[in-house]
Amino acid sequence: MPNPAAPRQNGKQLNPEVRKHNFDEVAQIFTKEEALAEANRCLHCKNARCQANCPVGVQIPDFIALVKDGKVGEAASKIMETSLLPAICGRVCPQEKHCEGNCVLKEKFGSVNIGMLERYTADTARKEGLLTTPVCAKSTGKKVACIGSGPSSLAAAAELARAGHQVTVFEALHAFGGVLRYGIPSFRLPREVIDHEIETVKSMGVTFRTDVLVGATETIADLLKEFDAVYVGSGAGLPTLTGIPGENAVGVYSANEFLTRVNLMQAYKFPQTDTPIRIGKRVVVLGGGNSAMDAARCAMRLGPKSVTVAYRRSAAEMPARAAEVEHAKEEGVVFEYLVTPKEVVADETGHVIGLKCTRNELGAPDEKGRRRPVEIPGSEFVMPVDTIIVAIGQKPNPIIAKTTPELKTTERGVLALDEEGKTSMPGVYAGGDIIRGGATVLLAMKDGIEAAKRINQYLQGK
Ligand SMILES: Cc1cc2nc3c(=O)[nH]c(=O)nc-3n(C[C@H](O)[C@H](O)[C@H](O)COP(=O)(O)OP(=O)(O)OC[C@H]3O[C@@H](n4cnc5c(N)ncnc54)[C@H](O)[C@@H]3O)c2cc1C
Repeated sequence: MPNPAAPRQNGKQLNPEVRKHNFDEVAQIFTKEEALAEANRCLHCKNARCQANCPVGVQIPDFIALVKDGKVGEAASKIMETSLLPAICGRVCPQEKHCEGNCVLKEKFGSVNIGMLERYTADTARKEGLLTTPVCAKSTGKKVACIGSGPSSLAAAAELARAGHQVTVFEALHAFGGVLRYGIPSFRLPREVIDHEIETVKSMGVTFRTDVLVGATETIADLLKEFDAVYVGSGAGLPTLTGIPGENAVGVYSANEFLTRVNLMQAYKFPQTDTPIRIGKRVVVLGGGNSAMDAARCAMRLGPKSVTVAYRRSAAEMPARAAEVEHAKEEGVVFEYLVTPKEVVADETGHVIGLKCTRNELGAPDEKGRRRPVEIPGSEFVMPVDTIIVAIGQKPNPIIAKTTPELKTTERGVLALDEEGKTSMPGVYAGGDIIRGGATVLLAMKDGIEAAKRINQYLQGK
């Protein structure tokens, strides 16, 4: 009999005093006992709200029932019927918004820890050799190109391969995974987990090519000569900067550059690796989203005296996942709320020595319902800092749109889709951050899966 009232299992975490000096994974995998105890809390609801609120429709009650019966390999296969990246999703998806946020036990006993169960299932099945290669349909003879190798293209490529198409993924960088690899740090998502999930997609016959910047190396028009359809999953890798005076001083990084140096190029191992990184004594990170938390926690691991997150609104409006904020605080990151940066102060050699800011109070809500920050007159002050990391958002790189005039974009610079989810160019489909301008791994995957279905229909009519 399920026991929903049993205490929710949260798993163990590395000690903050130890982990803030290394890049090891913070959250530890469930033990078998913890997994069984947590699986036993699930009520296996008939009309499961957790499943209905999962953007890719993972069969949550069914996989948890299999975990409970000790059938971890079958549980992994059950998840992989709808999501081919379970070890990644179990770690980075905002479960509190989707599955766990809608669990019937949430108010009374605390939601079932679905994220940790998904991760346990995926990791254990892999370690015990219980994963099976997803079955692909007989070859259709059609060829599809996927641009980018982030979660959106990976999901699209896998679905297209399942349908029997021959798929090639083109990635601009020298490594695959998109933000999963260059943005999200290994202490949240170990590199071997990304490698393994990409191996699964490869095992389905998908070909991967690095160092191809579509729009420069070759255009979409070139690809359409060789491929029957193209999926654009090129993400939103162009950083947004503040535009305040002095922002080009030495010691100011965009979060994108900072995280790429640390996570993709592993600059924290320099000189064993090729890329260096300079970190000062006092670091300030501007922003309040997931990028800001990742930048702050990476910066902390590089050994400065202090790391401060400066955010324009209050804690309640901060978009980062609550768990990431908690982890950052445990590791010693300090939060300054209701602060707007006004000017970077540099010394005579051009190096950052401070950040002029004003203090805010909260005003009326904006169009998204979040209360606006309103500057308090006469509240100017200077934060003594020598490294500034700007993590206030990102937008799509315009190279693809610029070199493909047939592709319509919106005023936000994202690719425009019609009501049927098609781009303005026949045979070209798109999804993930390139159409959303910065969202989540799961939404990027959902777009990829849905676009793959549209591509199938398109190819059947071809
Ligand atoms: C630091 C950070 C932390 C995040 N943390 C989380 C989290 O915890 N949970 C969560 O759900 N979401 C998180 N997100 C958001 C999430 O990672 C993104 O929404 C998701 O990765 C988008 O997937 P995508 O496939 O559309 O694009 P991306 O992951 O950006 O991948 C796009 C890929 O396309 C490649 N590319 C770009 N242009 C070209 C071109 N012209 N030719 C060839 N290749 C090209 C890029 O190099 C990249 O590899 C985070 C984002 C950031 C920046």
